[in-house]
Amino acid sequence: MNRGFQKFTFILFLFCIFFVPFAKAQQPAVNPKPDPRFKADILVVAAHPDDESMIAGYLAKAVFDEHKKVEVVFATRGNAGQNLVGNEQDHSLAEIREMEARQACSSIGIHNVWFLRAPDTPAPAGDVHDVLRSLETWNHGNVLGEIVRFIRLTRPEVVITMLPDVVVGENHEDHQATGVIATEAFDMAGDPTKFPEQVAAPEDRLWFGNHMEGLRTWQPEKLYYFTDASQLGFVKGRGPEYSMKAVSPSKHVAYGRLAAQEISYHKTQYGDKPSKALASGNLDYYEQPLTFILGKSLVGGTKTGDIFQGVKAGPILFAPVKGYQPPKNNAEFSLELGGPWAFYKRFYPAHDLKNLADLLAPEIGVGGGQDFPIPLVLHNNSDKTAIFHLQTHFPQGWSIDSSSAQNAHRELPVHTFKVNAHDSFPIRIRLIAPNLNTSKWQNISWAAEADGKKMGSATLKVYVR
Ligand SMILES: [Zn+2]
Repeated sequence: MNRGFQKFTFILFLFCIFFVPFAKAQQPAVNPKPDPRFKADILVVAAHPDDESMIAGYLAKAVFDEHKKVEVVFATRGNAGQNLVGNEQDHSLAEIREMEARQACSSIGIHNVWFLRAPDTPAPAGDVHDVLRSLETWNHGNVLGEIVRFIRLTRPEVVITMLPDVVVGENHEDHQATGVIATEAFDMAGDPTKFPEQVAAPEDRLWFGNHMEGLRTWQPEKLYYFTDASQLGFVKGRGPEYSMKAVSPSKHVAYGRLAAQEISYHKTQYGDKPSKALASGNLDYYEQPLTFILGKSLVGGTKTGDIFQGVKAGPILFAPVKGYQPPKNNAEFSLELGGPWAFYKRFYPAHDLKNLADLLAPEIGVGGGQDFPIPLVLHNNSDKTAIFHLQTHFPQGWSIDSSSAQNAHRELPVHTFKVNAHDSFPIRIRLIAPNLNTSKWQNISWAAEADGKKMGSATLKVYVR
């Protein structure tokens, strides 16, 4: 080895010791950004395969003509429905419906579609839908955690879900449950103390078996609802309306036609009906205007303005909601509709849903001759036990099913209840609707008095079919 070579290796040795580690330290570590493949402009949260079809015309417009990215989360796989194609039912039907929904969404350019596999609640026989029942069968918190996760994963500016309200129409309790949970998730996803394991950093993302999820918090900007109500007068002016007769500039057909094509994939639910309508060109059903209901906007805009009016690109600050506030000046004695009505009355202000507070007076639709329960709650805010006398007022032809009313004396139509001090007594009155010649609205009301004092009444509008 000559001296020159020895000198060269010595200098190389010194370079390796001093400069290579220094050069390496010059490269900063990089924290990966949220996975851009899942960034959505709109996240749709629906209950069943085919619910997205109700708004497919608008979604097609958003995807094809406004170049928005739309993604969908279905709470259930529609396993409790009918099958117009074959015998496959229940779990097998769920496999089919998941595929139908993926194909339907794909037809309007929606490719990221998830299913939470909550149980599909069958329509209660001769009964009225109650959102609280779906929240129970879904194990509310499980589905809520999942939807918060999907908001954090997809980072949408806009969340569109189903109306949390009791309406005349299909009024499916799973639809309402989706609206309730998506609203809660809208208000939680930006809060790092909610489901913190989702936003905690993974221990070592390049190694295996990490438990923390590494998502970022995310505050969506606007929340919209769509409804399965059959009497749609109340939605006018509550949100933007889109023409389904309007022609898509990119597809050169009306949005209603794109909606009919989308729903035609749900063959177990609709058979060949949409395909036949498409072939005949009679698309009146699909070309009805589509109105959304504004839940809330954190970025301004008008109630009936376009869904993307005011929307800002990029994250906005977490916007905490007021949450439940107990009433201040409680009357000594009071009565109110219970169940879903009592829940929604408290839910809307808790989530700052100002547009829903006066959307609908309590209403329900029933068939002639139908026997159904109405929940009521009696409140005793006084310091002593009180006897409440409750009277039901109804038009001619109506009656009360005395066998199931929770009343002490069964003397109709006055019911008597003993309500403890500072307690509430939830009761159910079963009503039997009359058979009418034509469908019409009728009012049922309840009045009560306790200790000789009258209290405010409760009224329910009933659409008898
Ligand atoms: Zn549905």
